[in-house]
Amino acid sequence: MTSTLLIVDDEAAVLRSLERLLCRAGYKVIAASGGAEALELLQQHQVQILLTDFRMPLMCGNELLKVVKQRHPQIVGLILSGYADFNAVVDTLNSGIAYKFLQKPWTDELLLSEIQHAETEFKRRTLPDLHTQLLISSQDALLELDDKGQVLRINAALAKLWLLDATNISPKHLSAFLPTLSAQQLQQFLSNQQNTLLCLDNQQHEIELSHRLVTGHRLLLKLERLEPLPQFSSDLSSLSNLLTHQQACQLIEQHIAVKSGLIAVAVLDIDNFNLINDTMGYHKTDLLINKVASLLQQQLKPHQHLAYLSGDKFAFIFTNCADEMALQLQITECLSIFDHPLLHDERQIKLNFNLGYAIAPEDSIIAEKLLKYANLACRTNRNNQHHFYMRFEQAILDSKQQQFEISNALYGDLENNGFSLNFQPKVSLRDGRIRQAEVLLRWNHPRLGSISPALFIPIAERDGQIIRIGLWVLEQSLRCLRSFYQQGLEIDWLSINISGRQLQDPAFSDQLQHLLAEYQIKPEQIELEVTETYLMEDIQLSNKVLSHLHQTGVRISMDDFGTGYSSLAYLTKLPIDEVKLDRSLLTELSSDIQSQGMVRNIIRMAHELGLEVTAEGIETIEQQQLLQAMGCDLIQGYFYSKPLNEQLFTDMLRQQPFAGENFYGN
Ligand code: C2E
Ligand code: CA
Ligand code: CA
Repeated sequence: MTSTLLIVDDEAAVLRSLERLLCRAGYKVIAASGGAEALELLQQHQVQILLTDFRMPLMCGNELLKVVKQRHPQIVGLILSGYADFNAVVDTLNSGIAYKFLQKPWTDELLLSEIQHAETEFKRRTLPDLHTQLLISSQDALLELDDKGQVLRINAALAKLWLLDATNISPKHLSAFLPTLSAQQLQQFLSNQQNTLLCLDNQQHEIELSHRLVTGHRLLLKLERLEPLPQFSSDLSSLSNLLTHQQACQLIEQHIAVKSGLIAVAVLDIDNFNLINDTMGYHKTDLLINKVASLLQQQLKPHQHLAYLSGDKFAFIFTNCADEMALQLQITECLSIFDHPLLHDERQIKLNFNLGYAIAPEDSIIAEKLLKYANLACRTNRNNQHHFYMRFEQAILDSKQQQFEISNALYGDLENNGFSLNFQPKVSLRDGRIRQAEVLLRWNHPRLGSISPALFIPIAERDGQIIRIGLWVLEQSLRCLRSFYQQGLEIDWLSINISGRQLQDPAFSDQLQHLLAEYQIKPEQIELEVTETYLMEDIQLSNKVLSHLHQTGVRISMDDFGTGYSSLAYLTKLPIDEVKLDRSLLTELSSDIQSQGMVRNIIRMAHELGLEVTAEGIETIEQQQLLQAMGCDLIQGYFYSKPLNEQLFTDMLRQQPFAGENFYGN
């Protein structure tokens, strides 16, 4: 978009020559000979940048900027003046009403470059605030309230849960959505005396509300449904014979009260029901779930009970087991119906399940907690095992709590929150010199200590926070690169990790361009590392997004090659410059002939496609020598250097020997 500039000066000659210069540079320019006229023009035009003289009759430059700041706070004000009126200028700058002071007479090149910076500043001022960013990009259900509990906005994820139109919610108090809550409970929660709140929503679903962010008088809350929506109309015959959630809780607590041996609760979730639902339709799926219910029920022995929770979820209650071994035996027997396919609607259907269990009194003596813990254990099947069962353990709760804590701790000012960048050299196998470096984010939280990006990046991706964290990494990387060049250090480019979520953000490319301009970095001086898994998820989309970026001149690297599809054929379809071989491909390199053959082939084919190859996670001299013999271009890994902070990295760049020297190879 072309920016519109308003120039204000009482000298007509100055206005004319500024107008000529700025129009030639492609800006839309309007001019005023004094403050009053300028203010009037601002009513009629959308102006991004205001460039004003300092000393003018009637209204001086800083008076004008003061009014503009009040009426149009997003406009970036610059002062262009020939007077060395030092104190007044310092005051103006310090009070924040002017962005920069430029001197008359000006040089065209410098003035245009300052205008470019002012454009970036305008973009920054008009960037949606953090609440808006998160409401747009988070996959969690979020709502924004004022400090009186009035709901201001909800995001798409919550609109979907509550079946509302996110763009058009009528002003209502939060209590209207949470009918079971007393005014006092709500007040306590909103005043932040407690971090989370459990209650029922309008649709009778158990939910957990938690605080995310407070900005001025606005709060951002996250809402999590504890039980998924029942997807099947579960009112058919065999289900009605089963215990309800409430009856199950009563039964568990009765047994706990009389202490009749070990009591266990096992939550069973049938894994592939959604898929079955999609292929068979609701009605037939209902019948199938009824069939499963009656099969499970038929097998029940004394001291075993079955409850129906919701959707495809059941709970077993075992009220008298000698020990955990005996319990596991009982569980396996109950699950034996899943050993063989079920005949249903003339089809053989193989059902998969996840089961989690918790034991009283060890894990808890409260029925709701036992069910919750069993449910948590049930959801830990990360590797998609078909028949999965697991006992609840404190670590599951700890990990959920840790995720919650990390997600909370991520909010706030990044620099003061302990974020910093490390640089890991990428070394040429031709001459042993550091050619590039990968930027790796580090987080040393004031309270939680050092947290690995492998842990917090996925959480930030889920929360939507990766957008602003990624932007911060990008800006800091460019700032450092600028400083490296200013110190005369040699480096071809920095490789920056970009999450798939960032690439999906329509503002990403523009923000990148502006930052490049601001820090005077050429596009080819940075490389974006994008993971193979993201690229392959939607090859057409990634191709579109990456092609656009690639055309602007930035380099693209396919990260973690070898962990996903690893298809070289895809490499030809994407605009990439480099392939980064994942550490897992290279760990066995020295001892495994097969692995050597594979890596050699990948390198050869990548070269045929004109791509550079970096091998990462290189820890030994044997790996380095083998890769060198295979013609690999660059290596990165502890063998050469661990990731270093800015100071240590620049020391290393400064001390690096001339090409060839100190190079253990050849
Ligand atoms: P990655 O992009 O594959 O980064 C390489 C990881 O391997 C880094 O871990 C690095 O410290 C580690 N590494 C390097 N050399 C060796 C070696 O010789 N041996 C071993 N065992 N490990 C080595 P780190 O820093 O913990 O980063 C983990 C992941 O977090 C990164 O994997 C990347 O996916 C992500 N990440 C880090 N910084 C950022 C960031 O700024 N943005 C995004 N989106 N992701 C980031
Ligand atoms: Ca990487
Ligand atoms: Ca990698």
